[in-house]
Amino acid sequence: MVPGRTAAVFASLKSNPRLLLAKPSINVFLLGYIRKFRPRRVGGHLILHSHLPPLNSSAYSRFVDMHILRRTPGPSHAQIGVSSVCPHKCGFCYNHGRSGEPLDSDAILRAVSALQELGVVWLGLTGGEPLLNPDLVSIVARAAQKCAVKLFTTGCGLTMEMARDLKRAGLFSVSVSIDHWEAETHDRGRGCPGAFDEAVRAVSTFRSAGLDTGVSAVLTGDMMRSGSVEKLLAFLATLNIHEAWLSEAKPSGRDSWKESPVFGEQDRRQMAALQDEYNRKGLLNVNYLGHFEGPDHFGCNAGTKMVYVDSFGEVSPCVFTPVSFGNVRVRPLREIWEGMSSVFRPASGCFCHQNHGLYPRFDDGRLPIPPDRARELVREAVFAPMSRFQSLLNDRLEE
Ligand code: SF4
Repeated sequence: MVPGRTAAVFASLKSNPRLLLAKPSINVFLLGYIRKFRPRRVGGHLILHSHLPPLNSSAYSRFVDMHILRRTPGPSHAQIGVSSVCPHKCGFCYNHGRSGEPLDSDAILRAVSALQELGVVWLGLTGGEPLLNPDLVSIVARAAQKCAVKLFTTGCGLTMEMARDLKRAGLFSVSVSIDHWEAETHDRGRGCPGAFDEAVRAVSTFRSAGLDTGVSAVLTGDMMRSGSVEKLLAFLATLNIHEAWLSEAKPSGRDSWKESPVFGEQDRRQMAALQDEYNRKGLLNVNYLGHFEGPDHFGCNAGTKMVYVDSFGEVSPCVFTPVSFGNVRVRPLREIWEGMSSVFRPASGCFCHQNHGLYPRFDDGRLPIPPDRARELVREAVFAPMSRFQSLLNDRLEE
Protein backbone atom coordinates (compact mmCIF):
# COMPACT_ATOMS: atom_id res chain seq x y z
CA MET A 1 0.00 0.00 0.00
CA VAL A 2 1.26 3.49 -0.82
CA PRO A 3 1.54 5.58 2.35
CA GLY A 4 0.10 9.08 2.53
CA ARG A 5 2.39 12.01 3.20
CA THR A 6 1.95 11.97 6.97
CA ALA A 7 2.46 8.20 7.03
CA ALA A 8 5.65 8.68 5.00
CA VAL A 9 6.93 11.13 7.58
CA PHE A 10 6.38 8.52 10.29
CA ALA A 11 7.86 5.76 8.13
CA SER A 12 10.95 7.89 7.63
CA LEU A 13 11.29 8.45 11.38
CA LYS A 14 10.60 4.79 12.14
CA SER A 15 13.37 3.69 9.76
CA ASN A 16 15.71 6.35 11.10
CA PRO A 17 14.88 7.05 14.77
CA ARG A 18 18.32 8.66 15.12
CA LEU A 19 16.91 11.56 13.10
CA LEU A 20 15.35 12.69 16.37
CA LEU A 21 18.90 13.41 17.58
CA ALA A 22 19.18 16.17 14.98
CA LYS A 23 18.26 19.63 16.15
CA PRO A 24 14.52 20.37 15.95
CA SER A 25 14.85 22.96 13.17
CA ILE A 26 16.42 20.35 10.86
CA ASN A 27 13.59 17.92 11.55
CA VAL A 28 10.99 20.63 10.95
CA PHE A 29 12.69 21.44 7.64
CA LEU A 30 12.86 17.76 6.57
CA LEU A 31 9.26 17.06 7.54
CA GLY A 32 8.08 20.10 5.59
CA TYR A 33 10.15 19.01 2.61
CA ILE A 34 8.83 15.43 2.67
CA ARG A 35 5.28 16.74 2.65
CA LYS A 36 5.83 18.41 -0.74
CA PHE A 37 5.95 15.01 -2.45
CA ARG A 38 3.76 11.95 -2.88
CA PRO A 39 5.85 9.06 -1.57
CA ARG A 40 5.65 5.84 -3.57
CA ARG A 41 6.46 2.23 -2.88
CA VAL A 42 8.35 0.45 -5.65
CA GLY A 43 10.02 -2.93 -5.12
CA GLY A 44 9.89 -2.58 -1.34
CA HIS A 45 11.46 0.90 -1.45
CA LEU A 46 9.67 3.89 0.06
CA ILE A 47 10.67 6.61 -2.39
CA LEU A 48 10.16 10.34 -1.93
CA HIS A 49 11.89 11.19 -5.19
CA SER A 50 14.82 9.75 -7.03
CA HIS A 51 17.40 12.34 -5.94
CA LEU A 52 17.34 10.96 -2.39
CA PRO A 53 17.83 7.34 -1.27
CA PRO A 54 14.56 5.54 -0.38
CA LEU A 55 13.42 6.62 3.08
CA ASN A 56 13.51 3.03 4.37
CA SER A 57 16.94 2.16 2.93
CA SER A 58 20.31 1.69 4.60
CA ALA A 59 21.65 4.37 2.23
CA TYR A 60 19.19 6.88 3.74
CA SER A 61 20.27 5.82 7.24
CA ARG A 62 23.88 6.49 6.19
CA PHE A 63 22.76 9.90 4.88
CA VAL A 64 21.16 10.73 8.23
CA ASP A 65 24.08 9.42 10.25
CA MET A 66 26.99 10.77 8.19
CA HIS A 67 25.64 13.97 6.69
CA ILE A 68 23.08 15.22 9.21
CA LEU A 69 24.26 13.95 12.58
CA ARG A 70 28.02 13.61 12.13
CA ARG A 71 28.36 16.24 9.38
CA THR A 72 31.10 14.38 7.60
CA PRO A 73 33.03 16.66 5.22
CA GLY A 74 32.70 14.15 2.36
CA PRO A 75 30.19 14.17 -0.51
CA SER A 76 26.73 12.64 -0.09
CA HIS A 77 25.90 12.60 -3.82
CA ALA A 78 28.03 11.63 -6.82
CA GLN A 79 27.73 10.81 -10.49
CA ILE A 80 30.17 8.68 -12.39
CA GLY A 81 30.54 8.18 -16.14
CA VAL A 82 30.69 4.46 -16.83
CA SER A 83 30.94 4.72 -20.62
CA SER A 84 32.47 7.35 -22.89
CA VAL A 85 30.41 6.26 -25.89
CA CYS A 86 26.94 7.62 -26.71
CA PRO A 87 24.72 7.28 -29.78
CA HIS A 88 23.19 10.72 -29.14
CA LYS A 89 24.72 14.06 -30.11
CA CYS A 90 22.90 16.55 -27.88
CA GLY A 91 23.64 20.26 -28.18
CA PHE A 92 23.38 20.70 -24.40
CA CYS A 93 25.49 17.64 -23.42
CA TYR A 94 27.52 18.36 -20.27
CA ASN A 95 30.36 16.19 -21.55
CA HIS A 96 31.12 18.44 -24.54
CA GLY A 97 34.86 18.68 -25.07
CA ARG A 98 35.76 16.06 -22.43
CA SER A 99 38.07 13.42 -23.90
CA GLY A 100 40.98 11.11 -23.02
CA GLU A 101 41.48 7.46 -22.22
CA PRO A 102 38.27 5.95 -20.82
CA LEU A 103 38.41 4.34 -17.37
CA ASP A 104 38.11 0.56 -17.55
CA SER A 105 35.61 -1.24 -15.32
CA ASP A 106 38.22 -2.07 -12.64
CA ALA A 107 39.12 1.61 -12.36
CA ILE A 108 35.41 2.50 -12.21
CA LEU A 109 34.89 0.00 -9.38
CA ARG A 110 37.85 1.48 -7.49
CA ALA A 111 36.38 4.96 -7.91
CA VAL A 112 33.00 3.70 -6.67
CA SER A 113 34.63 2.26 -3.54
CA ALA A 114 36.53 5.50 -2.95
CA LEU A 115 33.29 7.50 -3.29
CA GLN A 116 31.56 5.22 -0.80
CA GLU A 117 34.43 5.63 1.68
CA LEU A 118 34.15 9.41 1.36
CA GLY A 119 30.45 9.23 2.32
CA VAL A 120 28.49 8.97 -0.93
CA VAL A 121 24.99 7.57 -0.32
CA TRP A 122 23.40 8.39 -3.71
CA LEU A 123 25.24 7.48 -6.90
CA GLY A 124 24.10 8.36 -10.43
CA LEU A 125 25.50 6.24 -13.25
CA THR A 126 25.85 8.21 -16.42
CA GLY A 127 28.04 8.30 -19.51
CA GLY A 128 28.11 8.48 -22.42
CA GLU A 129 25.48 5.78 -22.46
CA PRO A 130 25.88 3.52 -19.40
CA LEU A 131 24.03 0.60 -21.03
CA LEU A 132 26.97 0.29 -23.45
CA ASN A 133 29.28 -0.77 -20.62
CA PRO A 134 29.18 -4.61 -20.65
CA ASP A 135 30.06 -4.65 -16.91
CA LEU A 136 27.20 -2.37 -15.89
CA VAL A 137 25.41 -5.03 -13.83
CA SER A 138 28.48 -5.76 -11.69
CA ILE A 139 29.13 -2.04 -11.24
CA VAL A 140 25.54 -1.59 -10.01
CA ALA A 141 25.88 -4.59 -7.68
CA ARG A 142 29.04 -3.17 -6.08
CA ALA A 143 27.66 0.37 -5.83
CA ALA A 144 24.33 -0.79 -4.37
CA GLN A 145 26.09 -2.31 -1.35
CA LYS A 146 26.30 1.16 0.21
CA CYS A 147 24.47 3.59 -2.08
CA ALA A 148 21.10 4.18 -3.67
CA VAL A 149 22.06 3.73 -7.34
CA LYS A 150 20.27 5.56 -10.12
CA LEU A 151 20.79 5.07 -13.85
CA PHE A 152 20.61 7.91 -16.40
CA THR A 153 20.14 6.49 -19.89
CA THR A 154 18.92 7.08 -23.41
CA GLY A 155 17.49 3.55 -23.30
CA CYS A 156 19.63 2.62 -26.30
CA GLY A 157 19.93 -1.13 -26.76
CA LEU A 158 17.98 -2.06 -23.61
CA THR A 159 16.58 -5.59 -23.39
CA MET A 160 14.16 -7.03 -20.82
CA GLU A 161 16.90 -9.38 -19.61
CA MET A 162 19.23 -6.41 -18.99
CA ALA A 163 16.50 -4.51 -17.13
CA ARG A 164 15.80 -7.52 -14.90
CA ASP A 165 19.53 -8.06 -14.25
CA LEU A 166 19.91 -4.43 -13.22
CA LYS A 167 16.96 -4.72 -10.85
CA ARG A 168 18.40 -7.90 -9.32
CA ALA A 169 21.78 -6.17 -8.93
CA GLY A 170 20.11 -3.55 -6.72
CA LEU A 171 19.41 -0.59 -9.04
CA PHE A 172 16.91 1.62 -7.22
CA SER A 173 15.76 4.00 -9.96
CA VAL A 174 16.21 4.83 -13.63
CA SER A 175 15.61 7.95 -15.74
CA VAL A 176 15.24 7.68 -19.50
CA SER A 177 15.87 10.89 -21.48
CA ILE A 178 12.87 12.27 -23.37
CA ASP A 179 12.95 16.00 -24.09
CA HIS A 180 9.84 16.48 -26.24
CA TRP A 181 6.45 14.93 -26.88
CA GLU A 182 7.02 14.91 -30.65
CA ALA A 183 9.31 12.17 -31.89
CA GLU A 184 10.79 14.31 -34.63
CA THR A 185 11.72 17.19 -32.31
CA HIS A 186 13.25 14.86 -29.74
CA ASP A 187 15.27 13.02 -32.40
CA ARG A 188 16.50 16.28 -33.92
CA GLY A 189 17.61 17.66 -30.54
CA ARG A 190 19.48 14.44 -29.84
CA GLY A 191 20.95 14.10 -33.33
CA CYS A 192 19.73 10.52 -33.46
CA PRO A 193 16.87 9.25 -35.66
CA GLY A 194 14.71 6.72 -33.83
CA ALA A 195 15.85 7.95 -30.37
CA PHE A 196 12.29 8.81 -29.26
CA ASP A 197 10.81 5.39 -30.09
CA GLU A 198 13.71 3.62 -28.43
CA ALA A 199 13.34 5.77 -25.29
CA VAL A 200 9.58 5.14 -25.03
CA ARG A 201 10.21 1.38 -25.43
CA ALA A 202 12.87 1.51 -22.71
CA VAL A 203 10.46 3.24 -20.30
CA SER A 204 7.99 0.41 -20.76
CA THR A 205 10.70 -2.27 -20.39
CA PHE A 206 12.15 -0.81 -17.18
CA ARG A 207 8.67 -0.43 -15.78
CA SER A 208 7.77 -4.04 -16.62
CA ALA A 209 10.97 -5.20 -14.92
CA GLY A 210 9.66 -3.65 -11.69
CA LEU A 211 12.09 -0.73 -11.50
CA ASP A 212 11.26 2.76 -10.29
CA THR A 213 11.07 4.40 -13.72
CA GLY A 214 11.23 8.05 -14.60
CA VAL A 215 11.87 10.26 -17.56
CA SER A 216 14.52 12.97 -17.48
CA ALA A 217 14.11 16.08 -19.59
CA VAL A 218 16.18 19.21 -20.09
CA LEU A 219 14.17 22.45 -20.02
CA THR A 220 14.89 25.85 -21.53
CA GLY A 221 13.46 29.23 -20.60
CA ASP A 222 11.68 29.30 -23.98
CA MET A 223 9.86 26.11 -23.04
CA MET A 224 8.77 27.66 -19.74
CA ARG A 225 7.54 30.85 -21.36
CA SER A 226 5.73 29.16 -24.26
CA GLY A 227 3.80 26.68 -22.12
CA SER A 228 5.71 23.74 -23.61
CA VAL A 229 6.63 22.43 -20.17
CA GLU A 230 2.98 21.75 -19.37
CA LYS A 231 2.57 20.02 -22.74
CA LEU A 232 5.61 17.89 -22.01
CA LEU A 233 4.28 16.97 -18.55
CA ALA A 234 0.87 16.10 -20.02
CA PHE A 235 2.61 13.75 -22.46
CA LEU A 236 4.78 12.21 -19.74
CA ALA A 237 1.68 11.53 -17.65
CA THR A 238 0.50 9.19 -20.44
CA LEU A 239 3.66 7.06 -20.16
CA ASN A 240 2.72 5.62 -16.77
CA ILE A 241 6.04 6.67 -15.25
CA HIS A 242 6.85 7.03 -11.57
CA GLU A 243 8.51 10.42 -11.91
CA ALA A 244 9.38 13.25 -14.26
CA TRP A 245 12.94 14.33 -13.43
CA LEU A 246 13.49 17.81 -14.80
CA SER A 247 16.60 19.93 -15.00
CA GLU A 248 17.31 23.08 -16.94
CA ALA A 249 19.91 23.54 -19.67
CA LYS A 250 23.14 24.71 -18.00
CA PRO A 251 26.05 26.69 -19.45
CA SER A 252 28.40 23.68 -19.56
CA GLY A 253 29.62 23.75 -23.18
CA ARG A 254 31.77 26.56 -24.66
CA ASP A 255 28.95 27.76 -26.93
CA SER A 256 26.86 28.77 -23.91
CA TRP A 257 29.55 30.42 -21.76
CA LYS A 258 29.10 33.95 -23.06
CA GLU A 259 25.31 33.99 -23.14
CA SER A 260 23.01 34.81 -20.28
CA PRO A 261 21.60 31.66 -18.70
CA VAL A 262 18.89 30.10 -20.87
CA PHE A 263 16.90 29.50 -17.72
CA GLY A 264 16.69 32.52 -15.41
CA GLU A 265 15.73 32.82 -11.74
CA GLN A 266 12.18 33.77 -12.69
CA ASP A 267 11.92 30.55 -14.76
CA ARG A 268 13.34 28.54 -11.85
CA ARG A 269 10.78 29.90 -9.43
CA GLN A 270 7.95 29.30 -11.88
CA MET A 271 9.09 25.73 -12.47
CA ALA A 272 9.45 25.06 -8.72
CA ALA A 273 5.86 26.31 -8.21
CA LEU A 274 4.69 24.09 -11.08
CA GLN A 275 6.37 21.09 -9.44
CA ASP A 276 4.62 21.76 -6.13
CA GLU A 277 1.29 22.13 -7.92
CA TYR A 278 1.64 18.86 -9.84
CA ASN A 279 2.67 16.97 -6.72
CA ARG A 280 -0.06 18.51 -4.58
CA LYS A 281 -2.75 17.67 -7.11
CA GLY A 282 -1.31 14.23 -7.82
CA LEU A 283 -1.16 14.88 -11.58
CA LEU A 284 2.33 13.37 -11.94
CA ASN A 285 5.29 13.05 -9.57
CA VAL A 286 7.53 15.91 -10.62
CA ASN A 287 11.09 16.21 -9.36
CA TYR A 288 12.74 19.40 -10.59
CA LEU A 289 16.42 19.70 -9.71
CA GLY A 290 16.16 23.50 -9.40
CA HIS A 291 13.60 22.95 -6.61
CA PHE A 292 15.91 20.59 -4.66
CA GLU A 293 18.90 22.90 -5.29
CA GLY A 294 17.00 26.15 -4.72
CA PRO A 295 17.57 28.64 -1.88
CA ASP A 296 14.53 27.40 0.08
CA HIS A 297 15.83 23.83 0.13
CA PHE A 298 19.24 22.15 -0.24
CA GLY A 299 21.05 24.73 -2.40
CA CYS A 300 24.01 24.20 -4.70
CA ASN A 301 26.35 21.58 -3.31
CA ALA A 302 28.86 21.45 -6.16
CA GLY A 303 32.23 20.45 -4.72
CA THR A 304 30.89 20.36 -1.15
CA LYS A 305 28.35 17.52 -1.14
CA MET A 306 28.30 16.67 -4.86
CA VAL A 307 31.08 15.32 -7.08
CA TYR A 308 31.35 14.04 -10.66
CA VAL A 309 33.92 11.55 -11.93
CA ASP A 310 33.70 11.56 -15.71
CA SER A 311 34.32 8.51 -17.88
CA PHE A 312 37.96 9.58 -18.37
CA GLY A 313 38.60 9.89 -14.62
CA GLU A 314 38.46 13.70 -14.34
CA VAL A 315 36.92 14.90 -11.07
CA SER A 316 34.55 17.90 -11.21
CA PRO A 317 32.29 19.57 -8.63
CA CYS A 318 29.18 18.40 -10.52
CA VAL A 319 28.31 17.12 -14.01
CA PHE A 320 27.60 20.63 -15.30
CA THR A 321 30.81 22.39 -14.19
CA PRO A 322 33.53 22.11 -16.88
CA VAL A 323 36.46 22.25 -14.43
CA SER A 324 38.65 19.43 -13.11
CA PHE A 325 40.53 19.14 -9.82
CA GLY A 326 42.47 16.03 -10.83
CA ASN A 327 42.25 12.62 -12.45
CA VAL A 328 41.68 9.45 -10.43
CA ARG A 329 44.28 7.69 -12.56
CA VAL A 330 46.93 10.10 -11.31
CA ARG A 331 45.90 10.95 -7.72
CA PRO A 332 43.76 9.25 -5.06
CA LEU A 333 40.15 10.43 -5.21
CA ARG A 334 40.25 11.40 -1.52
CA GLU A 335 43.13 13.80 -2.14
CA ILE A 336 41.40 15.32 -5.16
CA TRP A 337 38.18 15.71 -3.17
CA GLU A 338 39.97 17.40 -0.27
CA GLY A 339 41.61 19.89 -2.64
CA MET A 340 38.32 20.65 -4.40
CA SER A 341 36.10 20.88 -1.32
CA SER A 342 38.56 23.23 0.39
CA VAL A 343 37.84 25.93 -2.22
CA PHE A 344 34.10 25.39 -2.80
CA ARG A 345 31.37 26.64 -0.48
CA PRO A 346 27.73 25.60 0.03
CA ALA A 347 25.60 28.24 -1.68
CA SER A 348 21.97 28.94 -2.49
CA GLY A 349 22.62 29.72 -6.18
CA CYS A 350 23.86 27.45 -8.95
CA PHE A 351 27.65 27.79 -9.34
CA CYS A 352 27.37 27.33 -13.14
CA HIS A 353 24.75 30.02 -13.55
CA GLN A 354 26.66 32.47 -11.38
CA ASN A 355 30.16 31.89 -12.71
CA HIS A 356 30.06 30.70 -16.33
CA GLY A 357 31.23 34.18 -17.40
CA LEU A 358 34.64 33.31 -15.89
CA TYR A 359 35.17 30.18 -17.98
CA PRO A 360 36.45 31.82 -21.21
CA ARG A 361 39.29 33.54 -19.32
CA PHE A 362 40.59 30.26 -17.89
CA ASP A 363 40.02 28.17 -21.03
CA ASP A 364 43.29 27.20 -22.69
CA GLY A 365 41.68 24.78 -25.14
CA ARG A 366 41.52 21.79 -22.75
CA LEU A 367 38.21 20.66 -21.29
CA PRO A 368 37.49 20.29 -18.51
CA ILE A 369 39.59 23.32 -17.48
CA PRO A 370 42.60 21.69 -15.77
CA PRO A 371 43.27 21.81 -11.99
CA ASP A 372 45.76 24.69 -11.76
CA ARG A 373 43.46 26.99 -13.75
CA ALA A 374 40.33 25.59 -12.06
CA ARG A 375 41.69 26.58 -8.63
CA GLU A 376 42.38 30.13 -9.85
CA LEU A 377 38.91 30.32 -11.39
CA VAL A 378 37.22 29.30 -8.14
CA ARG A 379 39.23 31.93 -6.25
CA GLU A 380 37.46 34.55 -8.36
CA ALA A 381 34.07 32.86 -8.25
CA VAL A 382 30.98 34.27 -6.56
CA PHE A 383 29.11 32.12 -4.03
CA ALA A 384 25.59 33.10 -3.04
CA PRO A 385 24.66 32.92 0.67
CA MET A 386 23.70 29.48 1.97
CA SER A 387 20.34 27.87 1.29
CA ARG A 388 17.84 27.22 4.09
CA PHE A 389 19.04 23.64 4.73
CA GLN A 390 22.73 24.55 4.45
CA SER A 391 22.24 27.37 6.96
CA LEU A 392 20.46 25.10 9.43
CA LEU A 393 23.10 22.42 9.08
CA ASN A 394 25.94 24.87 9.49
CA ASP A 395 24.32 26.72 12.42
CA ARG A 396 23.92 29.94 10.47
CA LEU A 397 20.23 30.37 11.33
CA GLU A 398 18.51 30.78 14.64
CA GLU A 399 16.54 27.72 15.82
S1 SF4 B 1 26.60 24.05 -9.96
FE1 SF4 B 1 24.40 24.13 -10.50
S2 SF4 B 1 24.07 22.15 -11.47
FE2 SF4 B 1 25.98 21.96 -10.33
S3 SF4 B 1 25.40 21.18 -8.29
FE3 SF4 B 1 25.37 23.42 -8.18
S4 SF4 B 1 23.21 23.95 -8.58
FE4 SF4 B 1 23.53 21.89 -9.33
